Amino acid sequence: MKILVINAGSSSMKYQLIDMENENVIAKGLCERIGIDGKITHKTHEGKEVALEVAFPTHKEAFDKLMELMTSGEGKVIDDVKEINAVGHRVVHGGEKFFQSVVCNDEIIAAIEDLSALAPLHNPANVTAIKACVEVMGKDVPQVAVFDTAFHQTMPAKAYISGMPYEYYEKYGVRKYGFHGTSHRFVSSRLGEILGGLEGKKVVTCHLGNGSSIAAIKDGKCMDTTMGFTPLDGIIMGTRSGAVDNSIVSYVAEKEGLSWSEMNNILNKKSGFQGISGISSDCRDLEVAAKEGNERAQLTLDKVCYQIKQYVGSYAAAMGGLDAVIFTGGIGENSASVRYNVCKDMEFLGLEVCEELCANASRKEATFNTENSKVQAWVLPTNEELLIARDTAELVK
Ligand code: AMP
Repeated sequence: MKILVINAGSSSMKYQLIDMENENVIAKGLCERIGIDGKITHKTHEGKEVALEVAFPTHKEAFDKLMELMTSGEGKVIDDVKEINAVGHRVVHGGEKFFQSVVCNDEIIAAIEDLSALAPLHNPANVTAIKACVEVMGKDVPQVAVFDTAFHQTMPAKAYISGMPYEYYEKYGVRKYGFHGTSHRFVSSRLGEILGGLEGKKVVTCHLGNGSSIAAIKDGKCMDTTMGFTPLDGIIMGTRSGAVDNSIVSYVAEKEGLSWSEMNNILNKKSGFQGISGISSDCRDLEVAAKEGNERAQLTLDKVCYQIKQYVGSYAAAMGGLDAVIFTGGIGENSASVRYNVCKDMEFLGLEVCEELCANASRKEATFNTENSKVQAWVLPTNEELLIARDTAELVK
């Protein structure tokens, strides 16, 4: 069985074609600048690369070109589009309606479209991509939606309800939804495979990348997570502020004469690593600058490690214990210093880590706790595309 995985944005579309017999990626690539001009970069499993500039007025033309590249010329990996059994789409927001992946029909597509109020930049793009695939491949090829929010739907109301009047939840669906659900599910399930199940296990998963979120997972189910109504909540990220005292927002907006949308832009695009350090949104740049003595780069790294540590502790308290902490995402998988600074001095919780093991744990499945530690510390590389493909294959079997 061959599954195509699509991750669509408003002007881009990332894709992977996965052979489910061995879970190998047959081809992958990126369509960019859709609606502007158009560019596609396509790579095959044999290492052949095709890069083309083509007009992509809409996602449909991008999808047409992608099908042509897969079936002909240098980038060819299949003889016929019909070899693709189904398509799995990453859909950002499933609201309270979707707690698992679904095969799309007109009703489901309309429901995803209806949730656009909650994810105005993402859900419309996801729907556009689903419709483009149906148009090009025909209605017989199943289109499966895999939601970023779905895994977090098991959170209890005390975790997801906001402190604002309840009527806003009733009228507008204002509550915590959580994101990166596919990644938290992938790495926690992987730990379950390694340990022979997650029954009775209390796990904190730290997805740390350009966007970051942490989740408390008990018995394999999400109990709480740091991102909220939108991905802005929680810890500081590349350019997002994470949670701030809401009064600061109106205070600074008034002082600086900023509109709501300008303020939103600052909170989402100019804060976090970028905003505190004044140097970069990229963790690697901050680590280099901090080593060279830049105090604000060091402060940014200290702040993020402090926040992650706080969540590990508070989620252990929320779950009544802790069996494992998992690090994943670009920072979680690669930055030994972030991992070590989060986990050191946590012996009171039963977590004891080894600095040398931590330094050697990057980019692979590895533990870095000491032999005596009661809590395991793991690096588990995430693979959201593979989980989307697995869900899709399972639903269309
Ligand atoms: P992601 O969004 O998951 O691709 O993660 C991007 C983040 O991972 C950026 O902040 C990168 O600086 C960070 N990252 C990637 N490689 C490394 C590395 N070797 N050391 C520290 N951070 C890294």
